Amino acid sequence: MRGGVQVKTSQLWAAVAAAAQRIKENRQYLTELDSAIGDADHGINMDRGFQAVLAKEEELTAKSPGDLLKGIAMTLLSTVGGAAGPLYGTLFLRMGTAFGDKKAVDPRELAEALAAGVQGVQDRGKAELGDKTMVDALLPAAEAMAAAAGSGEGVGGVLAAGSKAARKAAEATKEYIARRGRASYLGERSIGHIDPGAMSATLILEAMAEALTEGN
Ligand code: ADP
Ligand code: MG
Repeated sequence: MRGGVQVKTSQLWAAVAAAAQRIKENRQYLTELDSAIGDADHGINMDRGFQAVLAKEEELTAKSPGDLLKGIAMTLLSTVGGAAGPLYGTLFLRMGTAFGDKKAVDPRELAEALAAGVQGVQDRGKAELGDKTMVDALLPAAEAMAAAAGSGEGVGGVLAAGSKAARKAAEATKEYIARRGRASYLGERSIGHIDPGAMSATLILEAMAEALTEGN
């Protein structure tokens, strides 16, 4: 379970490519979740965005980890659309900013960057924990990652801890009333369905964790 001490752009890219593949495989599932409490486009939106990221491999992999994440952010911002586009864009942008111009990042820096990214999502979307949004998965993930980094886990182990926390939290959104975004129009009728954005965030973290655990 121990990952390497630091990861470089090439390893982060491998993790992002794995996330793109996971989103593609779950395009239908995410769209089904969004059809229950939204407008049935979340899988389509996310797959379009991550495929656009994949198409920029050559340009993006020539950059530092921070600039890689900023490039991903700009691509998601211009291709995902809906509510999720600007929010995922902000998440990656703040993570990239947190990395600065470092050539490689360690587990603690990765956990701190995710925490900064989630703060960005909250600044932009105003969602609190329990509002049935992607924040419900991302916030516990960032906390679990900080704890895992603190106990000496490598990058793969840190992401594994984060993705485990995210999945549990995403599944728990089923019981919540949506208070932000399109699903909030349904009020109590949003109960009984997992939030699509909480699930897409979970799938991304799981794929990244698996890619970085294998690769280290
Ligand atoms: P849209 O709702 O515009 O169709 P998507 O379907 O792509 O956009 O994304 C919906 C997801 O976006 C939701 O499941 C939720 O997780 C997330 N979301 C929506 N509004 C907010 C918000 N204000 N803060 C955080 N996440 C949000
Ligand atoms: Mg939608």
